Amino acid sequence: MLEFDDRIAVAVSGGKDSTSLLHILAKIEHNYPKASLVAVTVDEGIRGYRDEALRIATENCKKLDIQHHVISFKELYGYTLDDIVKRLKEEDKSGVTPCAYCGVLRRKALNIAAREVKANKLATAHTLDDETQTIFLNLLHGDTSRITREKPITDEVHPKLVQRIKPFCEIPEKETALYAYIRKMRFQDLPCPYASEALRNDIRLFLNRMEQKHAGIKFTIFKSMEKITLATEKIGGKEEITECAKCGEPTTGEICKTCEMLQQLKMLY
Ligand SMILES: [Zn+2]
Repeated sequence: MLEFDDRIAVAVSGGKDSTSLLHILAKIEHNYPKASLVAVTVDEGIRGYRDEALRIATENCKKLDIQHHVISFKELYGYTLDDIVKRLKEEDKSGVTPCAYCGVLRRKALNIAAREVKANKLATAHTLDDETQTIFLNLLHGDTSRITREKPITDEVHPKLVQRIKPFCEIPEKETALYAYIRKMRFQDLPCPYASEALRNDIRLFLNRMEQKHAGIKFTIFKSMEKITLATEKIGGKEEITECAKCGEPTTGEICKTCEMLQQLKMLY
């Protein structure tokens, strides 16, 4: 995933997974004088939640002597997530969860932040648990094109797209948590007040139960999907990436998912 001279942007939320990732990458990076590390945090604008996490992230970066770059929904899109959730309620889009919006907006924000700090890799702290949950989530949603798009190392298919890597994709969440506890790291332990992915929660419980009965099953699921992805790439080819007609950011459609969502809410700049 990494080369000796990479400039790595690490997505740091302030939670245990990303804090562990930051510490481990900082440790590795010490041995590679040509490599550099910078932490990026997306401030979605969630009052009483993100502000605390942001303070913890800043504190960890200072301790490790790592540059910290913060990008906010407010400056990027003109609205905080709190504003968007309020509008969601007004528009009565009760079928759509805040997570669906936040996920798309955050993905784009992270890519822009990584580009701003001139990184050529963007590392996120997705664990084996996150990855296997997402596989099932996409399956149960019938979102087949997304199943094979979620790769531990993305292809570089557009100059504006920073390559994303997931160094923890084969590491169970229990282990990243244990690492954070053993090293006595400070991290935010509160769940997001908007967390509403009911289906993901059911899948999490199901997978944990399976793992307890059949040790190693999450790893097997992850490895199976890796093989399927490789096979489908050979037959299906890859989607072409162009630039969004509204914002100029990379997308596979006419306009990007972010602009589409903000347009639906009549919140497009
Ligand atoms: Zn756009």
